[in-house]
Amino acid sequence: MQVAIVGGGIGGLTTALVLKNANIPFTLYEAASEIRQVGAGIILASNAMQVLAKYGLDQLLYSKGHRIDTMLITDAGLGTLSQFSLKGFEQQYGLQNLAIHRAHLHEILWKEVGGQHIKLNKRLHSVIRDGNNFVLSFEDGSTSLVTHIIGADGIKSKVRELLFPAVQYRSANQVCWRGVLNFQLPVSYEHGAVEAWGKGKRMGFVQINEQEVYWYAVINEDMIATDQTVDLPALFREFHPIVKDLLEQTSPDKLIRGPLYDIQPFTTWNQSRVCLLGDAAHATTPNLGQGACQAIEDAFVLGELLKKGTLDQAIECYPAVRMEKAHYVVNTSWQLGKISHLTNPVGMGLRNFVLKYLTPDFVN
Ligand code: FAD
Repeated sequence: MQVAIVGGGIGGLTTALVLKNANIPFTLYEAASEIRQVGAGIILASNAMQVLAKYGLDQLLYSKGHRIDTMLITDAGLGTLSQFSLKGFEQQYGLQNLAIHRAHLHEILWKEVGGQHIKLNKRLHSVIRDGNNFVLSFEDGSTSLVTHIIGADGIKSKVRELLFPAVQYRSANQVCWRGVLNFQLPVSYEHGAVEAWGKGKRMGFVQINEQEVYWYAVINEDMIATDQTVDLPALFREFHPIVKDLLEQTSPDKLIRGPLYDIQPFTTWNQSRVCLLGDAAHATTPNLGQGACQAIEDAFVLGELLKKGTLDQAIECYPAVRMEKAHYVVNTSWQLGKISHLTNPVGMGLRNFVLKYLTPDFVN
């Protein structure tokens, strides 16, 4: 048996960890010349932390990341509309919810997997089924013969394009900027993940370690000019001064800009000895902060199924275990993206009223 994991993102690396622990021979093929994720933070909710803790990574992650106790939704002036305490999860599972720089998360996963299992500069180009095997061809001209393929190659998955029916991308019609900077949030937000909702735009920020804050700013596409030069602080001028400070103090060359989109939920995640995982299977808009957490859950479920049967069986059964929840995340995130970007003052007022007065604060 020789398994190919295609893609060395969070999903592929966690899958590698799972296969390594199950003593299944594998190689991870990554298109990039080095394993790295630059420039932004990520939130690891308790579902992801439970999996990573099972592989003994919790203390290492704590040492690099920052604990989050509360999720806050506010108006543009940072007036609280709703808050959700995460301390209950912490007590229930004995694990912190964490914000961390992506580069640190990748480094931790990569080191745990071990470089000997990872081949870089391997951009998958084509796949040919050869009896019970597959021949993978890469853009550098090399080939590999494998028995199984796990496609963890992200939203634009080549594995999916080559072996599965076409999917439908959905544009959220929103543009997102992300940044990380040296910054110390006020004590009141030190352990909070804050998302401030304005008119057709929102801004989120969280401390990811003692020195750095990660933020993201999202705006409806039709509210900005199509050219590349956007004055972000000006676009968010009606927001709280902290927002202005974060945007102004981030070096422009450290900004990551991209459109938000997902994939219309689809059900063909597997075929004989091949499966899709993570964004390749269920790419979501980031509004619930769950895309990577869901990829980590996928890998975990494969691992649990491997304890009960063969890899063929695990690949066959895993979509049935994972699909309902993953699709729920995709659909809920999609709706949340619409609600948080309302521009109609009546709709916004009603939304904020419901959040502030009719939705219980989950503080425990
Ligand atoms: P990817 O991270 O896309 O990795 C795919 C890998 O495959 C890449 O390394 C790529 O180089 C490689 N690859 C691609 N094509 C090929 C090929 N042909 N051959 C070989 N290799 C290839 N999720 C959270 O859980 N929490 C958050 O707080 C959060 N915040 C987010 C904020 C934003 C703005 C965005 C856009 C997303 C956010 N997400 C978050 C979602 C998360 O980033 C993704 O869901 C997650 O990274 C998906 O992981 P993946 O491994 O499936 O795919």
